[in-house]
Amino acid sequence: MKKITCILIALFALQIVKAEAQTISFEFPALPYSYDALEPYIDKATMEIHYDRHFRAYYNNFVKSVNENNLNGKSLEEIFADVSKYSAVVRNNGGGYYNHSLFWTIMAPNAGGKPDGKLFEDIEKTFGSFENFTKEFEKAASTQFGSGWAWLVVDENNQLFILQLPNQDNPLMDISPKKGMPILAIDVWEHAYYLKYQNKRRDYIAIFWKVVNWNKVSELYANALKK
Ligand code: MN
Repeated sequence: MKKITCILIALFALQIVKAEAQTISFEFPALPYSYDALEPYIDKATMEIHYDRHFRAYYNNFVKSVNENNLNGKSLEEIFADVSKYSAVVRNNGGGYYNHSLFWTIMAPNAGGKPDGKLFEDIEKTFGSFENFTKEFEKAASTQFGSGWAWLVVDENNQLFILQLPNQDNPLMDISPKKGMPILAIDVWEHAYYLKYQNKRRDYIAIFWKVVNWNKVSELYANALKK
């Protein structure tokens, strides 16, 4: 009788583990502000099309690719760590889903300026000065040929570095030349700025600093630091 009870408990526990593994589901996050909240820097039409069409398409295609590639139960981080093993559909749409989910949160209305505390100190230590950091980040964003993103990343030794990557690649992916935890990113696909800035990518990059949500970036930085 006791043995049967033990077996039943073990089976029950297994079911819970299995259920938890299957409950990893990918949510479509709400935009944390209205479409016109970042005006005049990022216009309402661009935000609406970017969030509701481009981002939604990446999300839908990613969820579909997770099912088609039997990746159910894996986290985004696990998928990215082995992304070179999967089809390009997973890489492009998983990246598109993660990158934009991050991007919406690191922007905010009435934001901009500079970070404070440890992030500011560590940026100055790493890049010489905050101004020099913005110059290097802008350079990475403006010289990314074609579509892609520029990133501020924390590596495994808690060092900050800047990276440019094409398409929807990101620094969590095994194909990234340098890996780490992203804490700031700018989308330099034309769909992110063309309606307002047309071919003037540099103008869009320059105004990006007006909308950076440094509180959020600092929070991501604190979480990324390995103790
Ligand atoms: Mn985009």
